[in-house]
Amino acid sequence: MKLVANLKLMPTPSQHAALLDTLATANRACTWLAGQAWDTQTFGQFALHTLAYHPCREQFLLAAQMVVRCIAKVADAYKLDTKTRRRFRRYAAQPYDDRIFRFRSATEVSLWSTAGRLAIPYQCGARQRALLVYRKGEVDLMYLKGVFYLAVVCDVLEPEELGLESILGVDFGIVNLAVDSDGTVYSGDVMEQKRQRFTTRRAGLPRHPTRAARRTLRQLAGKQARVQANTHHVLAKRLVDTAQRSAAGRALEDLTGIRTRVKARRQQRPRHAHWGFAQLRQFVTDKAARAGVPILLVDPRDTSQQCHHCGHGARAHRVAHERFSCHRCGYTTSADFNAAQNIKHRAAVNRHMVAQPRQLRLALA
Ligand SMILES: [Zn+2]
Repeated sequence: MKLVANLKLMPTPSQHAALLDTLATANRACTWLAGQAWDTQTFGQFALHTLAYHPCREQFLLAAQMVVRCIAKVADAYKLDTKTRRRFRRYAAQPYDDRIFRFRSATEVSLWSTAGRLAIPYQCGARQRALLVYRKGEVDLMYLKGVFYLAVVCDVLEPEELGLESILGVDFGIVNLAVDSDGTVYSGDVMEQKRQRFTTRRAGLPRHPTRAARRTLRQLAGKQARVQANTHHVLAKRLVDTAQRSAAGRALEDLTGIRTRVKARRQQRPRHAHWGFAQLRQFVTDKAARAGVPILLVDPRDTSQQCHHCGHGARAHRVAHERFSCHRCGYTTSADFNAAQNIKHRAAVNRHMVAQPRQLRLALA
């Protein structure tokens, strides 16, 4: 399913002028190309390229790839019919491809212009941003009422109907970094050791830090963040790979508004905070989107309290020392594994909570 994310560009005044000139020049080139095509009745992209590529480059001083996009735009315009000669508005939308456009970062794009390459900040909402991981092919530069936008085409996968056997639930960080419902345990030991080492080193610094000590502190914090991000990348990749290999969906707890619901896990808060779960979940979601793995979000209430075996209610069970023990049926297992099973089963029951595609559909509704 094709959806379009619109990014609002925030150019400086000189960049604004450069973008206007670029659109005007590209559209003049397109109108000229449309004339060449009309005069010689050459409407195919390839034939038009052979005929007009070099003269067009020389006349309009456009980048090679910009001329290629202009030729494609003109050929496209004649696809509907070849009964009328095409003309293009001065500031009509202009397509860009990956050779003349790229995302520089999460907040900046790089675009070719008649004044050279421009790095321009952009704005978009969270839902539009979620769409961007599905980006396919070209983007269109548009000028609407004095504002520049990039229209980014995104090809979103439809979630398959998933049965229980094709859902993997993952629980993050009660005791381990992650535990999969297939039984795989991703230990948090290495990172916890590193975290404690950082904490110790930080505690060893003087109370009223000197400039040197403050610098050391900053370096430590930066290093810790990089170690954590790397660990999260590796873990997220493994979780997504496992799901992709078995054509399964990934079920996670829906932690939107977790602060109000986290009561049951109060004792775990310090570790949750340190692990930076938001980042881990973001990595899993992003990688899943790129790999075409559906993400299913489930209600996180009592996933660690409910007995997966008999379904016996919440908060009656002892969850301590990594073990879950059911008072009713006597089922005893690792607390994380019990939670991962609950997440998996909840996802199977509430399949309507399939995350990205539903969210994405709303994005343009
Ligand atoms: Zn039970």
